[in-house]
Amino acid sequence: MKNNKLQYYFHTLSGSFELSVEAHNKESSAALYELHSIFFEIEGNWFVYDDSNIHYVTMKMKEELRLYTNKYRQIVPQINQLNAKISHMNCGEGFALLPVKPVSTIDRLRVEAAVLESNLPNRKSTGDDFSSDDIGDDFFSDDIGKFRLQIQGYNFFSPRVDVKTKIGPSRRQDRKCRFCGGTSQTGAKFKKKAHAIPESIGNKNIICNEECDACNEFFGVTYEKSLVEYFNIYRVIDGVKSKEGYPRISYQNGYAFHSNGVAQVYSEDIIEDEHGNVQIKLKSNEYFNENYFYKSLCKMALSVIDVNELPSLQRTLKWLMDKYEAGVDLPLVGMLISPAGYESEPKIIIINRVDDSLSSPHVLCELRVGYYKFLFILPYSDKDELKYSSKNEMEELFKVFPQFSTDVGWIYKKFSVNKMVKPVFAVNLNNSQVEP
Ligand SMILES: [Zn+2]
Repeated sequence: MKNNKLQYYFHTLSGSFELSVEAHNKESSAALYELHSIFFEIEGNWFVYDDSNIHYVTMKMKEELRLYTNKYRQIVPQINQLNAKISHMNCGEGFALLPVKPVSTIDRLRVEAAVLESNLPNRKSTGDDFSSDDIGDDFFSDDIGKFRLQIQGYNFFSPRVDVKTKIGPSRRQDRKCRFCGGTSQTGAKFKKKAHAIPESIGNKNIICNEECDACNEFFGVTYEKSLVEYFNIYRVIDGVKSKEGYPRISYQNGYAFHSNGVAQVYSEDIIEDEHGNVQIKLKSNEYFNENYFYKSLCKMALSVIDVNELPSLQRTLKWLMDKYEAGVDLPLVGMLISPAGYESEPKIIIINRVDDSLSSPHVLCELRVGYYKFLFILPYSDKDELKYSSKNEMEELFKVFPQFSTDVGWIYKKFSVNKMVKPVFAVNLNNSQVEP
């Protein structure tokens, strides 16, 4: 039997997810066919495919999917998840449906752009294709204009996480450390494998060849410890393995570990409010420095950014390499827990401005770890005028990058205190939110 496997990649405004179903007999083959026909029209003997890969949620689709779920949930268990997602979307909402997950940055951005465009009000009411011929004088004042502007004025880069990605020259004698400027000629060593995103939070494939052993050691014993401390509880809840296996953490008032796919958290301090919301408090045994946490975010971005951007980021590097320097007027960091968008491996996206005339940050970065999203700006770029240290400035920024404003619930925080503290983490069980 041919075509006994069906794979879908859905991209919606609130995130993406994959569905893969295999058929082993006649009945399950019929289930695949029926599922496909919910999303695709049949003409004669063939399914009709549209190049745009964009679909719109309809009442009919919701109803068919609901009936399908009741009928086939034993054969296609993942259908429950799909049904839940589609039933929560609004009728008329556009989403992309592809046979495979896009791997390259440009393909991913194309899909994101298409989904965004399908949900812009003008587009939906007319149903017309947007073409560049339509660009008038007021092009830059509407939402489509802003989206195009973003593509034109910026470079996007996101190192692939599904294959080994090495940043910088492979020959050691050709390498120059991005952080201290050291080379083999000046005595810098490049014997260690430097992970651009720490291995301890799940990165396996993104390696920075341009980080010398001394800098690698420095980051490991300073900033990375605070990063790991911040993510420890998340690693337990989601079961993220590092080279030491699943985390087991002891706290002053409890402990937490992951075993057989289940997170187990014990604490002497559990509070339940009148609405039945349960909060678990965990007092850390380890030191955490919020400024170090922010510096470790910035370090990841500097590890992967186009090397040609580094000359305008010399003050940023100086601030990064001085562990005593907290920094002044640091940009706010946006944080979001996005239940629909789970990343199985941490992912970093760098958006750097190539046009000097724009009043948006030189380097904007997004880090996705599991359900967490962090939006941060590299401070002290020579190409920045604004500091992005106020909420207003951040909200203006979201107008330039509408894909961020489609997510609701961003909170902003400044990581400016350079002090070692033993944090108390609060785990809210109703939504699995962790707050230090
Ligand atoms: Zn170095």
